[in-house]
Amino acid sequence: MKPRYIILQVAVPRPIYYSLSYRSSDLSIQAGCRVQVPLGHTEVTGVVMAVQSESDQSKPPQTLKNIIRVIDSEPIFEPSLLAILLWCNRYYHTAIGDIVFTAVPLALRKTRQVPPTTIWQSSSSQQAKDIGRLNRAKKQKLLITTLLETPVVSEQQCKQLLGASYRTILKALKEKGWIQSSEISPYQCFTPSKEVKIVAPLTLTDEQSDAVQRFEDEAKQACPKPILLHGITGSGKTEVYLRMITAAIKAGQQALILVPEIGLTTQLIDRFQRFFPQQSVVSLNSAIARMTRLSHWVALKSGEANIIIGTRSAVFASFKQLGVIIIDEEHDLSFKQHEGFRYHARDIAVKRAYDLKIPIVLGSATPALETLHNSQSGKYHYVHLSRRPGARSSPIITVQSTLGSPLKAGLSTPLLQQIQQRLDKNQQVMLFLNRRGFAPTLLCQNCGWHSQCRDCDSNMTLHAKDQKVRCHHCGYEEHVITSCPNCQSRQLDTQGQGTERVEIALQGHFPDTTIIRIDRDTIRKKGEMDHKLQHIRAGKAAILLGTQMLAKGHDFPLVTLVGILDIDRSLYSTDFRSPERLAQLIIQVSGRSGRGKHKGRVILQTSQPDHPLLVTLLSEGYLSFANALLAERKLWNLPPYSYQALIRAESLKQPNALQFLERVLMYFKEIEGLTLMGPMPSLMERRAKWYRAQLLLTSTQRSVLHHAIKQQLETIGKIRKGGQLRWSIDIDPLDT
Ligand code: ADP
Ligand code: ZN
Ligand code: ZN
Repeated sequence: MKPRYIILQVAVPRPIYYSLSYRSSDLSIQAGCRVQVPLGHTEVTGVVMAVQSESDQSKPPQTLKNIIRVIDSEPIFEPSLLAILLWCNRYYHTAIGDIVFTAVPLALRKTRQVPPTTIWQSSSSQQAKDIGRLNRAKKQKLLITTLLETPVVSEQQCKQLLGASYRTILKALKEKGWIQSSEISPYQCFTPSKEVKIVAPLTLTDEQSDAVQRFEDEAKQACPKPILLHGITGSGKTEVYLRMITAAIKAGQQALILVPEIGLTTQLIDRFQRFFPQQSVVSLNSAIARMTRLSHWVALKSGEANIIIGTRSAVFASFKQLGVIIIDEEHDLSFKQHEGFRYHARDIAVKRAYDLKIPIVLGSATPALETLHNSQSGKYHYVHLSRRPGARSSPIITVQSTLGSPLKAGLSTPLLQQIQQRLDKNQQVMLFLNRRGFAPTLLCQNCGWHSQCRDCDSNMTLHAKDQKVRCHHCGYEEHVITSCPNCQSRQLDTQGQGTERVEIALQGHFPDTTIIRIDRDTIRKKGEMDHKLQHIRAGKAAILLGTQMLAKGHDFPLVTLVGILDIDRSLYSTDFRSPERLAQLIIQVSGRSGRGKHKGRVILQTSQPDHPLLVTLLSEGYLSFANALLAERKLWNLPPYSYQALIRAESLKQPNALQFLERVLMYFKEIEGLTLMGPMPSLMERRAKWYRAQLLLTSTQRSVLHHAIKQQLETIGKIRKGGQLRWSIDIDPLDT
């Protein structure tokens, strides 16, 4: 008998762990299509995760609701991506809807259809003769010449060929009647010119060639192992990535390049586009307008674009045929999402590559201890780039004690002298201070009062230009006061310094020098970062001052001196990951120095010049340092030698979160092989009005941990929570 219904497992945008079952008499619906379904009293758009026949379902189909309608005629997710999303559901113990809707482009979260692909072709053959008439309209001429060679080009290609004004040019030619457009299905493969031309002006060093060779050998394996590319800063990793993806591009496959969430994508896109002038390179990140993002997503899905450079969530892009994955700066924390669906893009990328049996490269000058451990246990290959190409050498790092020498807004006299020397030679200086604002504390000298956030256990930072004190954790702000609210004394003072204050001090000291400050206060709008970067590249003497944003990945050839102003706080931190992070930061920031013709130098200002952490890192290098940390972690059974999950809870009334976790604790107490820590208040207990607490689960066996969570998840969900309590699970947490 012919089936009358199919059963659809649908992920809906609600915090529900499993997909919901619906039925449909449209037997042609495939997994990966969006459907409109009834849910409670409303209708929502969901994604079909699996299709089952009538008999697969234990419930009789009569009791299931019908879907309202199907939105897509073809799946928006390929089967391998659906499998990854389902894996995330099991691994991260997160609601399926939260996962799936991370992968659905913003513009497709409701019922909008996937837009068709627009293609352009010439409308008559007369043009070869008339082309001379376009001499003054260079871009129009360029397009017509291209169309004489390649009869059909997509809108995406036009954009690439003609730049930002492509729409105007297309319109002008269309009005002349020279070209015409048509639309094809986004799922139809639009194949642009197959020729893969590469422009490779650099000759690889031996080390670089070896790295590429090792990659190519591995890529030929039936199941390639991930490769850790440990290349010191400035060793030319980008050049190596370009060569590594070439074979895949030539084979008609696509490449995914994941980068940290910093202003680096524009530069990298340029670099990849120049190397592959005929390929379509697109990017996906949250800074791109949603409709542009959608067109990029479609271009990838149809196979028209074959290189994508994106941040964290690009790991969920849809592909026609993904052939290789690169993760640049793989140690970077921004690959981990810290709220909602708490995933790690690097780990998912490794899983995606494994499923597809394609090669993946994890590149960094300061690999994460997890990754290093994987390369030492044989799970990953290890490839090293130990030198900078050409005559460039790595910078020399010196530690400068701030003890006993007076500081001027955080800058020591020797550092100021060094800065002057570089400026005199028309070179650039970069100063790093991971704290924005003028000063982190405003305090009363008379009674000791200091400005505290109303809603958090945290100081308010003074922002002098805005005349505000602001909480950097919740955003709460107030006008600056001139007298102490406690004792009315007018003796208010500041303590410590942020980038705003250092900028003012520098301006006073070097009045004729351009000072470029890069932090979240100066980079608020789109394009501001690129604008500042251009300024830096323009190549005049300047002082660059900034936070993390400035520290990572950039290639500023004129910087010959880097000053790291304040690391003392990190030296005192109790978090077991703190030494790893500090070492990564020091090496990364230092790596910005001496990337051009001139030798680089780094000055590390600290009140703890003999701290063992600094001594080992600077005398033995990152790898030895990291190995020492790994040995310590092994001793204490810490990750990567054990696996962790953190259950967090927060409540508006102080005891509720802790009380809830006390009950959660009961369910895990008896489980063998599981170590529990807590519940205890979080390091910063109150944040944005919520009192926070946590319970840490650790096991040396991943399966024990995951099994326990899976077993108890439903029970935890059923604990009576009283008003206003939120809780979540973080698998492989990075801030415990
Ligand atoms: P990394 O990402 O490893 O820090 P980059 O990829 O930014 O390093 O490269 C650093 C600099 O070295 C860049 O200016 C790049 O153009 C240059 N470079 C890379 N490879 C070569 C090479 N084989 N020959 C000459 N210069 C190179
Ligand atoms: Zn006071
Ligand atoms: Zn606050």
